[in-house]
Amino acid sequence: MRSYSLIAPAKINLYLEIIGNRPDGYHELAMILQSIGLADQIDVHSISTDSIRVHCNHPQVPTDKSNLAYRAAELMAMQFPEAFAQYGGVEISINKQIPVAAGLAGGSTNAAAVLVGIDLLWKLGLTQPELEELGGTLGSDVPFCVAGGTAIATGRGDQLSPLPSLDNIYIVLGKYRSLEVSTPWAYKTYREQFGDSYRDSDNLAARANAVHSGAIVKAVLDKDAGEIAQKLHNDLERVVLPAYPQVLQLREVFANQEGVLGTMMSGSGPTVFALFESQQQAELVLLQVREAIIDKDLELFVTRTITHGIKVVSSV
Ligand code: ATP
Repeated sequence: MRSYSLIAPAKINLYLEIIGNRPDGYHELAMILQSIGLADQIDVHSISTDSIRVHCNHPQVPTDKSNLAYRAAELMAMQFPEAFAQYGGVEISINKQIPVAAGLAGGSTNAAAVLVGIDLLWKLGLTQPELEELGGTLGSDVPFCVAGGTAIATGRGDQLSPLPSLDNIYIVLGKYRSLEVSTPWAYKTYREQFGDSYRDSDNLAARANAVHSGAIVKAVLDKDAGEIAQKLHNDLERVVLPAYPQVLQLREVFANQEGVLGTMMSGSGPTVFALFESQQQAELVLLQVREAIIDKDLELFVTRTITHGIKVVSSV
């Protein structure tokens, strides 16, 4: 095969707790990550020149080495030089549907798709843990994006414990097109403002692992959408909501709609999501929010929880 098309789903954070500062400069996190139906399509082709090329339909996404998908291909070429020499270069086309810099792991899921696609193109036969380990060197969210579904993530977000899949909880996502929140800014600001509360803490991993016995994990195990929605949590809301009044307003508008089980910002934002029992309720609330906030800059999507990460849809 010389070409694979892959679906690369976005994620939301049902839970994000910042436990403390790690010696390696990252934060120790306790998260619950959930794949959603909103996805990019990634096409990976073998080409005869020994180069890596990236195309993307979204003007804000770089196509040079700063693209995480490019870096994933470069990593594979470095790790597997013989296969790179044998099969030649790689051309990557990204059809972007996931909003950029939105807290939805758009770049990370693209990188995960490239790892999976090149593994297939070059017939490497890597296992899922091997792909996740490679992904972890590119970014903290990449390992989760490989297998997707529902998982607890601790450490930098790269230590995964799968949870039973949550299928068919419906979601409305809201994101202002022109609003981007830098993930490093959000964590740095959190550390500056709230770092004192955890500066002297030790045994970070044990404290992060406490999430396993927490109320939201019990709700996920029970597949109780209402209870999950009551237990949504994101520490980064403490810094992003005060700095971005539009995000706060969107969250409040969501919270006041009938049928909304719960609402929260995803990751470092600025995307806000709301959970619903049914697609019909989600679609109705999308229309109501569109009427309540008349702003062409606001994009709204209806999607749902899904049970997979990167998925191959065709090969030629
Ligand atoms: P996360 O939730 O993992 O923090 P995010 O959803 O907030 O990620 P991305 O969409 O991954 O953010 O984009 C963050 C930045 O990375 C953007 O400003 C963009 O320029 C850059 N970037 C690099 N590669 C990609 C890619 N393949 N898709 C989207 N953005 C990319």
